[in-house]
Amino acid sequence: MMPYLTDDFGNASSIHTFGQTAKMAVDRARHQVAALLNATRPNEIIFTSGGTESNNLAIRGLVEANSRHGNHIILSAIEHPAVESVCEDLEKKGFELTVLPVYENGIVKIEDVRAAIRDDTILITVMAANNEIGTLQPINEIGSLVRDLRRPGKKIWFHTDAVQAVGKIRVDVEEIGCDLLSFSGHKINGPKGVGGLYVRRGVRLHTQNIGGRQERGTRAGTENVPGIVGLGSAAELAGSTLDDLDTRIRSFRDRIENDILERVPDAIPNGDRTTRLPNIANISFRSIEGEALLIALDMQGIAVSTGSACSSGSLEPSPVIRALGHGDAVARGAIRFSLGRQNTAEEIDKLLELLPSSVARLRSLQPTAKHA
Ligand SMILES: *Cc1c(COP(=O)(O)O)cnc(C)c1O
Repeated sequence: MMPYLTDDFGNASSIHTFGQTAKMAVDRARHQVAALLNATRPNEIIFTSGGTESNNLAIRGLVEANSRHGNHIILSAIEHPAVESVCEDLEKKGFELTVLPVYENGIVKIEDVRAAIRDDTILITVMAANNEIGTLQPINEIGSLVRDLRRPGKKIWFHTDAVQAVGKIRVDVEEIGCDLLSFSGHKINGPKGVGGLYVRRGVRLHTQNIGGRQERGTRAGTENVPGIVGLGSAAELAGSTLDDLDTRIRSFRDRIENDILERVPDAIPNGDRTTRLPNIANISFRSIEGEALLIALDMQGIAVSTGSACSSGSLEPSPVIRALGHGDAVARGAIRFSLGRQNTAEEIDKLLELLPSSVARLRSLQPTAKHA
C-alpha cells in the first residue's frame, strides 16, 4: 500500500500518467479478488468502503432496480446487523420479510427456504458464515434452488453476506450460484474501510451513491486506491494460505474448545460444531456475564468478544445466541474466540492456562452462583 500513499498518488479516474498508474493498481486488485472468489470476469467486482456498504448496496440496490418483480424478501434470523437493518428499513417502506429460523445448530433448513418462497419473492439474503458462531449456511443449495425457480418473466435473486467466509474457507461464486456476494478487507487481514461486492454479470443494481461514473457507475466516488491495493494483496495471500487455516488454525480452535469443555464446568458450545468455519468457537459460561470475562481476559492480554463488535456496548444479550433457542442467561455468558493466521501455539497455551481460573473467580464472586 505504501507507494500508493506516497509517490503513486494519482486519482484512478484521471487520464494522466499518475492516474493511469493508480488505475492499473486498482485493476490488478480487481483481478486478485476475482481470482479468490472464482469470478469469471474481474469487472464483476465492485469496490466499496466495506462489508456494511456492500450489504446496503446489494440489498437496496437490487430491490430498487427490480421492484416490479416483487416485494418479498427472505433472510435468516442471524444475519449481520448490516443486512438485518437494511431489510427492516425496507419493511417500513412496504416490503414484506420472512425471517428463517436457525434452530439450535444455528443453520437454516433448505426446506424452510423453499417453503418461504412466494410468487412475489424478489430476494433471498442468507449469510455464508455467521460472525459470532461461525456456522455455515447451505448457500450452494439456496443458489441452485434460486436458479431452478428462474423462468422468463419471473426473477428472484440471491445475495450472500460472505464477509466471514471469504479468506477463511474456499468461496466460489460459480459453485454457489449467487448473484451478489459481500466481502470486507479487514476480515481478511486487509485494511479497514475497504471491501467489495461481487455482482454477477447482467444483475442490475440501483446506485446508492450518485455523482460519478466510478465502479461501472454502480458506486460513485474517487477510488480508495491504497485501500483497494491492500485488499487485493490480502485476497491473494488469503487464497494461498487457506490450507494453513484449515489445518493449523483449526487444530488451535479445536484445542481451545475441547479443553474448555473438558475442564470448565457448565460451559456450553454454541452452534453446530461441524458445519462451521475453522477459526471460530463460541462458548457460553453459565452464571457469568460474558462482558465480565471479556474484561478479565483483556487485563491478561487476551482479546475475545461477546456478540459482534457492531453490537457491543449494547449490553443486550447476543441476538444470535438467543436465536439458537437459549435463554437470556446462556446468551449473556457467551464468548467468541476468533483465531487468525498470526496466532501461535504459545498464545493458545496462555489462554487455556488463564481462562479456567478467570471463570472460577468470576463465579465465586456471585452470591447466587450454584457452582462448587
Ligand atoms: C464485519 C461484518 C460485516 C461488516 O463489514 P465492515 O467491513 O466492518 O463494514 C458484515 N457482515 C458480516 C458477517 C461481518 O462479519
